[in-house]
Amino acid sequence: MYFKTITPIKIYVTEEKEKLKKKIRQNQKKPSLVVIQVDSMQASNAYVKSKRRDAEELDIEFELVRIDSDECSQEEFENILKCYNAKKNVNGIIIQLPIPEMYDVTKLQNCISPEKDVDGFRKDSLFYPCTPKGIVDWLEYNNYNFSGKDAVVVGRSKIVGKPLVQMLIDKGATVTCCNSKTKRMKNKTRNADLVITAIGQSKFFDQSYFTRKTMIVDVGINRDENNEICGDIDRENCMKCFGEEDLYITAVPGGVGLLTRISLMKNTFKAFKIQQGVEEQ
Ligand code: NDP
Repeated sequence: MYFKTITPIKIYVTEEKEKLKKKIRQNQKKPSLVVIQVDSMQASNAYVKSKRRDAEELDIEFELVRIDSDECSQEEFENILKCYNAKKNVNGIIIQLPIPEMYDVTKLQNCISPEKDVDGFRKDSLFYPCTPKGIVDWLEYNNYNFSGKDAVVVGRSKIVGKPLVQMLIDKGATVTCCNSKTKRMKNKTRNADLVITAIGQSKFFDQSYFTRKTMIVDVGINRDENNEICGDIDRENCMKCFGEEDLYITAVPGGVGLLTRISLMKNTFKAFKIQQGVEEQ
């Protein structure tokens, strides 16, 4: 793979947005997305704000439902979800994570029907989870041939690592999944064609984890010592050792976060089409 020919994520996402906007405008009705936010945590406020911005830009109706955890039990929360789930004019519903530990998040997510679960968290959801889908879509757009590739996924969370492993296996890659207990991780990452890191530790991976032409997708969104947003990869350190033709590292910010956002909008539009009976499930 020639890294020089890769379309950067920002350019790709701008193009995808334009395509999606055109598709949405061909319909008389607008797709609609409901985001449920519990309390008003600063970190999740930023994510909600960007989702609203994306929706508005794409002509997707957006509703934010705020829940106060002091006044809402698990049962009441479930009832709110069931109520939105029953609304015909609501196509997609997501619960903005994280939510307080007092709630059983899996039980809540299962109150959203598979055809409205646009985050793709239910086992029987009709949608792929947004971050793994965004990564795979972008790599495929760049004609990345997964078949026969050695891929290493670092992290095994329910929302990123695990679904990503499944998607890469389905695409024909040979996949190794690492976690915090993994021994000799460098042996694995050094021999991989594709490394995807999702551990949530700022600049954890330096040049010693990589030795040859590797495609690196950095999912991490962390804060460094100067409180600046950074990924799991120490990009500066890696790029000092490797040239741009030897290593490709996705940017943070302006990387996987954008892919996740566009996937949510695509899933919402797909939900709208499915519920109209236009698209096959
Ligand atoms: P979790 O905390 O749920 O999972 C982290 C995973 O990383 C765990 O499986 C853990 O292993 C593993 N891990 C932690 N430290 C190490 C280590 N030193 N070596 C190997 N594995 C390790 O995180 P998420 O998956 O939710 O998120 C990961 C990162 O991705 C975060 O920075 C988050 O902000 C970001 N993120 C970004 C998104 C985007 O759109 N760009 C979307 C979602 C998340 P173990 O299971 O053994 O504990």
